[in-house]
Amino acid sequence: MNDTYQTIANSSVGKALFNAINLPIPVILERWQPGQASFIDGRVLVGAAEGGSAMDTILATLKTASGAQLAVLANNGNASELQKQAAAAGVNADNYTATREDDARFKGLVFDATGIENPDQLKALWAFFHPVIKKLDKCARVLVIGRTPETLSGAARVAQRGLEGFTRSVGKEIKRGATVQLIYAEAGAESQLAAPLQFFLSPKSAYVSGQVVRARQAGFDAESFDWQRPLAGKKALVTGGSRGIGAAIARVLARDGAEVIVLDIPPMAEDLNKVAGEIGGHTLELDITSDEAPGVIARTAKEHGGLDILVHNAGVTRDKMLGNMPENLWDMVLNINIASQLRINEQLLADGAMGEGGRIVSISSIAGIAGNTGQTNYGCSKAAVIGMVDAYREEYADQGITINAVAPGFIETQMTAAIPFTIREAGRRMNAMNQGGQPVDVAETIAFFASPAAQGLTGNVVRVCGQMMLGA
Ligand code: NAD
Repeated sequence: MNDTYQTIANSSVGKALFNAINLPIPVILERWQPGQASFIDGRVLVGAAEGGSAMDTILATLKTASGAQLAVLANNGNASELQKQAAAAGVNADNYTATREDDARFKGLVFDATGIENPDQLKALWAFFHPVIKKLDKCARVLVIGRTPETLSGAARVAQRGLEGFTRSVGKEIKRGATVQLIYAEAGAESQLAAPLQFFLSPKSAYVSGQVVRARQAGFDAESFDWQRPLAGKKALVTGGSRGIGAAIARVLARDGAEVIVLDIPPMAEDLNKVAGEIGGHTLELDITSDEAPGVIARTAKEHGGLDILVHNAGVTRDKMLGNMPENLWDMVLNINIASQLRINEQLLADGAMGEGGRIVSISSIAGIAGNTGQTNYGCSKAAVIGMVDAYREEYADQGITINAVAPGFIETQMTAAIPFTIREAGRRMNAMNQGGQPVDVAETIAFFASPAAQGLTGNVVRVCGQMMLGA
C-alpha cells in the first residue's frame, strides 16, 4: 500500500512545509536492491571496552564489505592495539580520535562491550558514542556487542543487562532511518557473530531497530561461506505463501538460492501458482489445520529430499472484543496461528523430514508482545508462538535445529489495508521511523534466521517494527 503522507513529506514543497510545522518526515529507507552491495557501504567506526573478545570477528566480517572503510577510535587508550589487530586481520583502518566538533560522518558504529564487567565500566559506552552519535549518515547502522547476561553473575550480569536500555534509548534518539541493535554472545560464541553482523550492518535490516539477539556456541565457520547465495541447495516450505508477507518470504528465500514449496489453502490456488511460477518453486494446496496436513507436509518434504527451512507464516486475525467473541473465532485463530504449527513440527521431526541443520522460523506479532484491543485470540496465539520458540529451543538444539520467531509491527499488506483510516495512521506512525514496514523487511529477517550462518542463533524473537512505541 502507498503511504501518501510519506510521499508528500519527502517532496520538496512538503519537506519545507512539514519542517515548518514540526511534523515528522519519514525518510525513504535504504533497502537492498539486486546489484547493490549487500553489506554496509561507507565509513564504519569500531571501538571496544577493555578486555573485549568480539573484535576479531567484527574485523573479519567488515573485511568482507567491499565498500566499508574503517576508522579505529581511541576511547580507552587502546587505539594502537586495535589498529594492530585490524592490520593483522587484513583490514585497512585509520586511527581516528573523535571530537564533537570534527566533521567526520559514519555509516556504521560498532562497539565491542563484551569486556564490561561492572556498572562503572559502562562509562565506556558514553566515551565511545557521545562524540560521534550525531555524525551518522542517513540509514546508518549502530551495533553494540555484549556478553549474554544469563551466562554471567554479579556485577558483570548487572552491567551487561544495562546495554539493553542503552541501545533501545539510542534507537529512539537517532533519526533519518538509522537503526541500532544489541547482540549478546556467550563466551566462546564470538565466531557466531558473523551472521548477525552481516545482517544488522546491511540494508536488509532497514526496518529492524532496538532489537536484542543472543548468539551461542555453534559450528558455523564463516571463512568459506557464500554470503551472496546463503541458501543455495536448501529446501524451504513457506505456509500462507500466496500473498502478502508469505509471498515476499518465498521470493527472498528463492533469491538467496533456496528451492521453495509455497503452501496455501485451495481457494488461493491462482495466487499460489503465480508466486511459485515466478520463483521456479512448487505449490502445495493445503489447509494447515486439517487432520491430514502434518502427514501431507512431511510426505511432500521427503519427496523433495527433506526440508531445511520451515516458515510458519500462515496466520489470520478475527477481531472481536472478548465479551463479543464467538467460540468459533477463538478456535479458528488459535488453531491456524499456533496449534497447527506444533503438530507440523512434531510430524516433520518424527518422520525425519527435517534434521540436522534445520531452521524453523515462525511469525509472531507485536500484538503477542504488547496485546491489542479486540485481539485476545490473536494476541494469545502470537504470544504462544514466542512460547513455542522458548519451549523447544533446547530440545531442537540437540538435533542441530534452530527455532526463532519474527514479530512484525505495522507492515503494509492487505491485512493492514483493511484497518480503518485513523487506527491505520496511528499504527503507521507510532514507531521510531514514523512509517510502516514492507513485507520484504519481514522476509529479509526470516532469511537471516534461515541461513546456515545462523547456526548459533536459536530461541530469539526479533521484532520488525521500526522500533514501535508499543511493547518491550
Ligand atoms: P495475509 O492475510 O495477506 O496472508 C496470510 C496467508 O495465510 C493467506 O494467503 C491465507 O490464505 C493463508 N492462510 C490462512 N489460513 C490458512 C490455513 N488454514 N492454511 C494455509 N494457509 C492459510 O496476511 P499477512 O499480512 O501477509 O500476514 C502474514 C503473517 O504475518 C501472519 O501470520 C500475520 O499474523 C503476521 N503479521 C502480519 C502483520 C501485518 O502488519 N501485516 C503484523 C504482524 C504479524
